[in-house]
Amino acid sequence: MHTRCGPYNRDNVPITLRSPKPGSRVVGRHISYDSICQADHDSISYQWRQVTVAIDAQRAASEWLHSFQQAFNAHDASGVASLFEDEGSWRDILAVSGQLRTCDTPEAMAALLAQEWKLSPDRQIHIESIWKSEQAERYGEQVVEAFFKFSTQVGQGEGIVRLRPDVTQPASLSAWMLFTSLHALDLPPADPTVQAPPTREAAVEPDIRNWLDRRLDEIEYTQRQPTVLVVGAGQQGLSIAARLKALNIDALVLERSARVGDSWRNRYHSLRLHNDTRANHLPFLPFPPTWGRYTAKDQLAAWFEFYADALELNVWTGSEFLGARKEEDSQRWRVEVERHGETRVLHPRHIVIATGVSGAPHLPDIPGLDRFSGPVMHTAAYTAGESFAGKRALVIGSGVSAHDVCQDLDRHGAAEIVMMQRSPTMVISVEPGCQELFSLYTKGDRPIEESDLINSSLTQAVQKKWMPLYYSRIAQMDKQLLHGLQAVGFETNQTGVLGFTDLYRRRGGGYYMDIGCSRLIIDGRVKVLHARDFETISGSGIILADGSVKEFDVIVLATGYKSLNDDVTRLFGEEIAQRIGPVWGLDEEGELRNIARRTPETGLWFLAGSFPDARINSHYLALQIQAEEAGVAL
Ligand SMILES: Cc1cc2nc3c(=O)[nH]c(=O)nc-3n(C[C@H](O)[C@H](O)[C@H](O)COP(=O)(O)OP(=O)(O)OC[C@H]3O[C@@H](n4cnc5c(N)ncnc54)[C@H](O)[C@@H]3O)c2cc1C
Repeated sequence: MHTRCGPYNRDNVPITLRSPKPGSRVVGRHISYDSICQADHDSISYQWRQVTVAIDAQRAASEWLHSFQQAFNAHDASGVASLFEDEGSWRDILAVSGQLRTCDTPEAMAALLAQEWKLSPDRQIHIESIWKSEQAERYGEQVVEAFFKFSTQVGQGEGIVRLRPDVTQPASLSAWMLFTSLHALDLPPADPTVQAPPTREAAVEPDIRNWLDRRLDEIEYTQRQPTVLVVGAGQQGLSIAARLKALNIDALVLERSARVGDSWRNRYHSLRLHNDTRANHLPFLPFPPTWGRYTAKDQLAAWFEFYADALELNVWTGSEFLGARKEEDSQRWRVEVERHGETRVLHPRHIVIATGVSGAPHLPDIPGLDRFSGPVMHTAAYTAGESFAGKRALVIGSGVSAHDVCQDLDRHGAAEIVMMQRSPTMVISVEPGCQELFSLYTKGDRPIEESDLINSSLTQAVQKKWMPLYYSRIAQMDKQLLHGLQAVGFETNQTGVLGFTDLYRRRGGGYYMDIGCSRLIIDGRVKVLHARDFETISGSGIILADGSVKEFDVIVLATGYKSLNDDVTRLFGEEIAQRIGPVWGLDEEGELRNIARRTPETGLWFLAGSFPDARINSHYLALQIQAEEAGVAL
């Protein structure tokens, strides 16, 4: 049996509590403590049947971690599981499972560990230090939260444990959530003559060939092959290239557009990011502190270009990845690239597809669309509404792009704007609604690396419980907005979903973070039409289900984007696409499918998602590629 961490009185003497008696308040499977009577930085006190229990955060955390280490190193799966409460969950990124795994029950943890130890019988964990432990309110719960560093045979890890009183052992704190992640591999320092690209200069004396000469050579890849070929120079492609560079792994990024940043530059004129700049930094080089709260698309595009230059990333613009096949004997890929009209063949060991989940427009079959006499465009091709001043516009869709385009059309004086809603939409105001979500990155002076750890530590089980409560609180804040929308027939979807991040990950859309268009809908400047009331498009407008006709001059399709799977089939063929299965969307553990993790096709990797996703996931993907290159089994 393992030592369990118990409560202490104010003199730091352990105290024993009796089990809860019948009649004590037991809520679910969580302790019935009457109230948290004091929660300061270093300790948490709660009232339990007339006894005040004071918990020293540091001590509780260190005892729990000690017990965890003991059980883990004895390969005692049920011992580890017993340190968790029944609702306990554990997310591991590469540190213990070698994969991205989430276990939402102690039973699932025990099963995972038993399996892992069978594969790696020597696996041990050593808690190196606790760098912070404190009382915290996290996901609506008062917990002892500790950040710790640990090591395993393969490298250095970082983790978070959150403890709270346990109903089955009232004298104990059990783990509600555990997060473990690999931070760095323990490898001998790389031999710079073997792997490093030739620009790094150790000597101070000038050479006949200067930095620029070397950079230009380096980028050409005439004398060598890239170890990693990254397809796409958006935030994902640039982030992984920067991470690989830092690990001394030679990577070339292909971008088919003329300039780095074009994926943002070419989007509609009015676009600015809807999430806070402070959450969106790319790895290594934060945006300047002078920037505004919501970054404009051209500002971002310019930064991407600067970022690639400043970090000496090797990028070929105007270069399209045409397709690849495996060369079985060499374990490399054979890749065809069209670069400024010429074909180049490359042989990388790894390919990272970062072509975006909002890349190729999705154009659904809309009855009669081909009969429409006016212009029809997808939002990806929409630039600005100048040419539609005084015109009647139908915007099909009700997500972020649909709202942004309607708002832009209104600003440019469109005569009539109708948004066709196909299914209920989650609406949340950017201010105040989203502020709490961003607060992890915007409040206090927490380093971004720590915020990323907290962000990554959320498990599916906790998300399922906490998000509905959280979003219903936001819905209260946004009550007026939501009532206003409902009053004009706009259908909202605030319950039964786990938030817009979840919608983005599962469906790639279905939400709007309001930056003003909802007010236009409420005020009737943008009218709402339901897809169920629509019959077909005719020559100059649409015919509704009741037979009436509405005339329009332009139709904008805000119908989202194709899935990454289309890219996989097109670029790698049906067989590899079948083997890999769905890319993006969530698996049963709540992990993104095939994103930033080993896929069934060795040497083929994917990255996609938001800015924080790019920053966080590129780190773990780079470590996996580094491990493969070094022959280390994670
Ligand atoms: C209108 C809009 C607004 C958004 N607003 C936000 C926001 O406010 N906040 C947020 O976090 N996210 C937002 N997103 C979502 C997401 O952050 C963006 O879609 C982002 O661009 C995704 O980055 P990425 O690197 O995955 O892909 P992309 O930025 O799409 O980059 C992929 C790149 O791959 C290139 N490429 C594709 N195929 C090939 C090929 N075969 N060969 C060579 N190059 C190729 C493309 O040219 C492109 O440059 C928004 C998305 C859209 C569409």
